[in-house]
Amino acid sequence: MNCIFCKIITGEIPSYTIYEDEFVKVFLDINPDSNGHMLIIPKKHVLDITEIENEIWNHLLDVTKNMKSLLEEKLKIDGLTLIQNNGVIQEVKHFHLHLKPYYKEGQDLLPVEEIYNKLKEL
Ligand code: AMP
Ligand code: ZN
Repeated sequence: MNCIFCKIITGEIPSYTIYEDEFVKVFLDINPDSNGHMLIIPKKHVLDITEIENEIWNHLLDVTKNMKSLLEEKLKIDGLTLIQNNGVIQEVKHFHLHLKPYYKEGQDLLPVEEIYNKLKEL
């Protein structure tokens, strides 16, 4: 299957991976709307909200909560918007949840690599 997110899972396409386990992978959006914009995807290829299994959805929610904490700690975000596109507005046809940070003072959009380094700092 010619799916870019499946290729990110196998490592065929590189990504700024923030977290992964048996079921999901989290990486930085290559064209972010804000600093720390992440995508959470299931490792099993499914299209959208109709196809995702409830167990995986629950797990995605747990991971999302952990990522929210990470963003608060490392990037000092003030808000977070979750978006999951379906149908014609879904560009990549592999389920993904967007996590888009909000900064009340605004922000300069930094290179994705710089944000990756901040999130990976111990
Ligand atoms: P959408 O399908 O419209 O919900 O959004 C797809 C998202 O995937 C966009 O925000 C893209 O910037 C992002 N994207 C596409 N290719 C990559 C990639 N190779 N690595 C990281 N993010 C990507
Ligand atoms: Zn896929």
